[in-house]
Amino acid sequence: MHQFTRFSLPLCMVVDEGVFGHTDEILEDYMPGITKKKAILVTEEFLKNTYSDIVREICDDFGEAPVFTVSDADYETASALAKKISMESIGVVIGFGGGRVLDTAKYAAHISKAVYICLPTTLSNDSLASPFSVLTMEGRSRKTLPCKIPTAIIVDTEMIRKAPVSQTMSGIGDTIGKYTAVYDWAIAAKAGNARLDDFAYSIASMCCDSIMYCDEKSIQSKHFMTALSRALVMGGLAMEIAGSSRPCSGSEHLFAHAIEEYYPDIKISHGLAVALGCVGSANFQGRDDMKIIEVCKKYGLDLNPETYGISRDMFADIWMKAPGTRPDRVSILNDTELNREWIDEIYSRMQK
Ligand SMILES: [Zn+2]
Repeated sequence: MHQFTRFSLPLCMVVDEGVFGHTDEILEDYMPGITKKKAILVTEEFLKNTYSDIVREICDDFGEAPVFTVSDADYETASALAKKISMESIGVVIGFGGGRVLDTAKYAAHISKAVYICLPTTLSNDSLASPFSVLTMEGRSRKTLPCKIPTAIIVDTEMIRKAPVSQTMSGIGDTIGKYTAVYDWAIAAKAGNARLDDFAYSIASMCCDSIMYCDEKSIQSKHFMTALSRALVMGGLAMEIAGSSRPCSGSEHLFAHAIEEYYPDIKISHGLAVALGCVGSANFQGRDDMKIIEVCKKYGLDLNPETYGISRDMFADIWMKAPGTRPDRVSILNDTELNREWIDEIYSRMQK
């Protein structure tokens, strides 16, 4: 059966040095009159204080917009924010921050039907432009909720440079993960478990290639940051076009989910967990993992599980539990006879 797909793309995507100071002019160019609409800026206390000048400037430019601070990306906060937006007839939601802030702002803007402007302060994962929001429900389980993607995305490379480099490394890991994600998607499509979208597939593959084959060695350079922001944003758009997270999430993400769910005490960023998973997934898929290992070395991503306190036993257990984290998601793991010897071999490889 043929399914008709509908998707929308952002009107504006600007990546440059110091652009947050020109947010109003940039948005006016794309959406004349937008600065006259009632707006709200969503951020967190720490960012509001650290970047008080730029936060004040943006609020001033949007008719003295109020600031709404969030401390967690939970459903209750997002709903309270959506209620405020609706009750006060606010038309523009400006998300200024990292994953927590952006997921909350995106969901609140989505349910209140406000225009959502995304101003990321870190490049830690591809959720910034994805059609999903991950929110905690009642302080416990995290739920992925469908959302409208941002109307505008502005990335200030000067701001990203101020963020901890570990966040940027996480963004690299999430991007590299597409190497195995698209492959798993094709496997799932063959098995009748998913519908492959050629364009989303190509976009996600290109995102991965743009970082894997990037000739820029310095992670802090404007050139690299531009490449990474594009890769993360385009990853989000690939999900929007596909109507699912498939182009960006395969068995390497199941590995990351298993860490999150069964070993919550392990301190590892989402993107690094994905990069670790990507090595295993590539091996299970019978593909070369050298490119993954090389690019991680080049940008300082440590693939040794021991660094994060993941022992051999834990590593094997995480892989065993991975398929169960999303049982409906077919991947190479459905066709793989996971055995301890093989997993140990991969572990050893990652220690080098
Ligand atoms: Zn991810």
